[in-house]
Amino acid sequence: MSDDTLLDRALIRLEEAANHLQIDADVTEKLKYPRETTKTRLTIRMDDGSRKSFLAWRCRYDDTRGPTKGGIRFHPESNIEEVETLAFWMTFKCAVMNLPYGGGKGAIRVDPHKLSRAELERLSRAYVQAFANIIGPDRDIPAPDVYTNAMIMGWMADEYNQITGQVSPAVITGKPIALGGSLGRTDATARGGFYLVRHLASELGLDKDHSVAIQGFGNAGQFYARLSAADRNTVVAVSDSAGAIYRPGGLDVEKLIAGKNSGCHVADMASELGATVIAPDELLAVEADLLVPAALEDMITRHNADAIKAKVVLELANGPITPEADTVLNGKGVIVLPDILANAGGVTVSYFEWVQNRQGYYWDLEEIHARLLKIVEREGRAIWDIACKRDVSVRSAAYIHALGRLATAIEAHGTQSFFAG
Ligand code: NAD
Repeated sequence: MSDDTLLDRALIRLEEAANHLQIDADVTEKLKYPRETTKTRLTIRMDDGSRKSFLAWRCRYDDTRGPTKGGIRFHPESNIEEVETLAFWMTFKCAVMNLPYGGGKGAIRVDPHKLSRAELERLSRAYVQAFANIIGPDRDIPAPDVYTNAMIMGWMADEYNQITGQVSPAVITGKPIALGGSLGRTDATARGGFYLVRHLASELGLDKDHSVAIQGFGNAGQFYARLSAADRNTVVAVSDSAGAIYRPGGLDVEKLIAGKNSGCHVADMASELGATVIAPDELLAVEADLLVPAALEDMITRHNADAIKAKVVLELANGPITPEADTVLNGKGVIVLPDILANAGGVTVSYFEWVQNRQGYYWDLEEIHARLLKIVEREGRAIWDIACKRDVSVRSAAYIHALGRLATAIEAHGTQSFFAG
């Protein structure tokens, strides 16, 4: 990997897209840096009576197109650069889907598995106490991300309501249904990716019964496996942080999910499922038509990209492929459906949740799925057409598509050319 930071590497995509568009230099100048990032210390009382401090961040990268939107990650390796890069990606993701949002992100540097439930609640509430002036339904709207979930969003929404003295469910999305969450949010990220693959299947050269390998078997990975298997595809390999398993004839997805829910790692279930335990990196190299990275960023690098045999990669994770690995995959003719399109189903249903909270009227699951399908197919098709017309990768096409929208909004606020007359 090069010495460039994650954000430097993310900005390469911005420059590439800008080269394809006639946009004012003011636009890229504005998007090169986050608007604001706040770092703070959260100190909470632990169950044993001691006090412990945790570093936390919230970044509002750009709000030209609307209030900033982005998840909160609880991870022991979270850092400012990761938060800002994820917020940059959110800016483009919301523009890709034409949601009226800018991009944001937040994190706490913590291993949540080492906290009791009560400690986790105190930490989640402390986050909202610290950032109460930054977040808000018309300013910055958090959501779940890695190692955060509906329960944590519920605590956070409750804390915000106590601070403001009002009930404002639209301040946070991904809440429990009982607190104003939306139906269809839990599987929305995977479902968006699934709708995209299904819509473009013939263009991607994927048969109706293609095989799938999934890296990362959490929220996104599990739901993708379930939707894909139910559509007669074969999930041949999956991995989690502890290992990977492979069965060329297909894995029993429902058994795998049940095992994960009861606390097993996927490798623990290998013999029960008739599968072979393989090394984590070997998952990338198995015979599968579609590879779905659904774990963390920078998993596919120039060191392992060449081994990939899949013809299509669906990036359910954010930033799983480094730019160098992207070049390797392009050279091999592998089509990458990029994160800002492939996993945007999550933020799209988060947007539906925010809309429903604000109007106080809730849609049924059928309506949520129909609206998601419409947006995924509309934007997926537009991006595919850009890729074909300009002869660029689908990733470049997605950035061109999003940057066009961002540029229109930034220019509408007034740029140098506007003032130069
Ligand atoms: P999660 O915490 O539910 O699952 C993450 C999974 O990755 C876990 O199974 C974990 O064991 C596994 N993992 C961690 N390190 C690994 C490694 N080295 N090799 C293989 N597996 C590994 O998180 P999630 O919500 O499913 O998110 C996964 C990715 O999808 C992240 O990049 C996240 O930003 C992205 N994403 C999620 C959503 C969402 O709505 N959940 C939305 C957009 C993007």
